[in-house]
Amino acid sequence: MPQLPEDRYHGQYEWFEGTATTRLIINAALDAIICIDTTGIITDWNPQAEKIFGWTFAEVKGLSLTETIIPEPYRNRHRQGLQHYLQTGEGPVLNRILEITALRRDGKEFPVELSILPIHQQDSVFFCAFLRDITERKTAETQQQLHAKALEQKNRELEQFAYIASHDLQEPLRTTSSFVDLLRQQYEGRLDEPGDKYLVYITQAVNRMQVLINDLLRYSRIGRKITLVMVDCNLLLKEVLADLNTAIQEEQAIITTANLPELNGYDTELKMLFQNLISNSIKFRKKEVPPQIKISATQSEKGWTFAFADNGIGIEERYYERIFIPFQRLHTWHEYEGSGIGLAHCKKIVELHGGNIWVESVAGEGSTFYFTIQQ
Ligand code: ADP
Repeated sequence: MPQLPEDRYHGQYEWFEGTATTRLIINAALDAIICIDTTGIITDWNPQAEKIFGWTFAEVKGLSLTETIIPEPYRNRHRQGLQHYLQTGEGPVLNRILEITALRRDGKEFPVELSILPIHQQDSVFFCAFLRDITERKTAETQQQLHAKALEQKNRELEQFAYIASHDLQEPLRTTSSFVDLLRQQYEGRLDEPGDKYLVYITQAVNRMQVLINDLLRYSRIGRKITLVMVDCNLLLKEVLADLNTAIQEEQAIITTANLPELNGYDTELKMLFQNLISNSIKFRKKEVPPQIKISATQSEKGWTFAFADNGIGIEERYYERIFIPFQRLHTWHEYEGSGIGLAHCKKIVELHGGNIWVESVAGEGSTFYFTIQQ
C-alpha cells in the first residue's frame, strides 16, 4: 500500500481515492483541475486551481462553482447544463475544448480554456474540469488582430493615395510635356548649346516622370477588379516569352522550363509577375554571358512554389528585402533602365495569391527568385 505524500491535501479526496500516484499527478498538473459533484459542489481543487483562482481548496471545498469561479451572467446556464446532462445524458460542452470567462477571487474576470470530463464511478457520476488561464494568449491575439486591421487600413489608404496622386499628377505633367515638345519644335537649334542641352534634360526628366507615374498608377491598380480563373502556367509562360521575344533574341537568352502547373489565380497579374521576373533576369545579365533562365515549380502542402533561376549579376544578401520595396533600385538609370517598381509589383501579386516572394543569390553568379501561390 503506497504511502500518501505528506502534503496539505492528504486525505481530503473522496474522488481520487485510487492511488497516491494519481494524487501526485493531479497536484503537479500545469492545468487547474477542478471536480464537482452532480449538484455543482466543488469536491476537488488542485494547487494550480488555487494559483489561478486565488482560493485555497479548504476555502472552496463544499461551495458551489456558481458561488466561486463562474461569473454572474453564466451561472444559470451552468445550472441548466448540469440538469440537462443528468436528465438526458447529453452534454454539448463535455469532452470539447471551450473558451469561457472565469472569475477570480478578487472579482476580476479572465479568459480560460477548459475541457470538462464526466467521470462515472459505479452508479454515481462526477465532473472534472481542466482549465488554463489564456489571458496572455488572448491579449496577444487581440493585439495581433488590431495590428493587422490597422495595417490593412493603412495599406488601403496608401493605395488610395498612390492612385489619386498618380492620377492627378498626370495632368500637369501632360501639359509640361506638350509645352516642352513645342519648345523643342520651335526653338531647337535657335538656342545656344547649353540651351539645347537643357531642353534634352527636361525632355528626359519628363519622360522618366511619366514612366514613374504610370508605374505607380499600375501598382495601385493591382488587385482592383480581379476574378480567380484556372490558369495554365505553361500557356501563360508561352505568351510571356512571345511578348519578350525581341529581348530574348537580342540577348540570346536560353530559357528552360519544367512542366508548370495549372492553378487557380489571377491571369493578368500572374502574366505580369512572370514577365517582370524574366525581363529582370535578361536585364541584369552578366556582360558577355548569354542569360540562362530556369523556371520550375514544385507542389507543396499549401500550393505551389515557383523558382526562377538566372546566371546574372546576382544580388548581395543585404539587399534581399529592399529590392521588393517600390522604387528601390541598386543601380542608376544609366547602368540599367527601370524605375524599381517591378519587384514591388511581383510582391503585391504574390501576396494577392496568399503567397510569399523571396530571393536567394550569389553576387556575381546569379539569383533565384522564389514565390509561392496558395491553392
Ligand atoms: P527595376 O528592374 O526597374 O530596377 P525591380 O523592382 O524589378 O526594378 O528590381 C529592383 C532591383 O532589384 C533592381 O534594380 C536590381 O538591382 C535588382 N534585381 C532584380 N532582379 C534581379 C536579377 N534577376 N538579378 C540581379 N538583380 C536583380
